[in-house]
Amino acid sequence: MRKACLLIRTAVVLGCLLSAGAGARAEDCGNGVELTLTAPEAAQGTLLLAEIHSAKPLTEVSGRWNERDVPFWQDGTREHSASGPNTRKALLGVDLEKAAGKYEFTVASQIQGGERVSCGVRIEVKEGHFATENLTVKKQFVEPNPEQEARAEAETKRLREIYERVTPERLWDGPFRMPLDGEFKGSNFGKRRVLNGHPGSPHGGVDFPAPTGTPVHAAQRGRVVLAEELFFSGNTVLVDHGLGIYTFYCHFSEIDAKVGDEVVAGTVLGKVGATGRVTGPHLHWGLQVERARVNALEIVRVLGSGDAIFRK
Ligand SMILES: [Zn+2]
Repeated sequence: MRKACLLIRTAVVLGCLLSAGAGARAEDCGNGVELTLTAPEAAQGTLLLAEIHSAKPLTEVSGRWNERDVPFWQDGTREHSASGPNTRKALLGVDLEKAAGKYEFTVASQIQGGERVSCGVRIEVKEGHFATENLTVKKQFVEPNPEQEARAEAETKRLREIYERVTPERLWDGPFRMPLDGEFKGSNFGKRRVLNGHPGSPHGGVDFPAPTGTPVHAAQRGRVVLAEELFFSGNTVLVDHGLGIYTFYCHFSEIDAKVGDEVVAGTVLGKVGATGRVTGPHLHWGLQVERARVNALEIVRVLGSGDAIFRK
């Protein structure tokens, strides 16, 4: 199928749609290199998977999206190498507030022997159509006193600094799973919120209402980079999965992890609770991919077992 994609231009669309899934888009970059995207368009808060396939071994692949470098990885090994299948993959996150419009994604690759091949595709970002909701929370979370405000600002800055760090190795090594066992449904991602009558920032995570004490599991292998109580998110754990991918879990009643822990998919990070700015016990699950705030269910859909359940 791949050969057909490369050799017969008119068969590219059909052949690559069949090989990469319905809605996928393929670009012939020349010199036996092809770029496929899971879809030619994406909504705010979603993920796209990009793949580079080459007839000859690749020694280097780099990309640009959202004014940032996009790290590529090779399945099968944690380290990039010139051997093995000539395929590299990357995730493109569309931030939940990225303005609707068309944006360029560019890729440059080096083929063994020295040839460089560059390629670009335009991706259409569409509105996420997020609902607005009115919530009532404790007054301190909407009108914090100067001390609380200074604390919240310092914590936001620290989180931003963590998210800016891109661990160059891929730490995850399999499908991403849901953080709760059982039939819990996630919702509320991207909702524009009005808190006690004041417009708030959009909701950057997925909420899973669940009884206090329900174990919360790491979605995949990674390293715990924060495990403490924060002003807005209460008891919080943040896991670095490498290549700019972070999952965030909060409002725990209890934290069962510490900074530096190496976790695997399923490791218990803590227990569901109602700490921080909440209206009741639930897990708030967040995902950032190269600084883009994305619906966490997307990583289960794109890199998981596909059992994510979507609800707005
Ligand atoms: Zn939440």
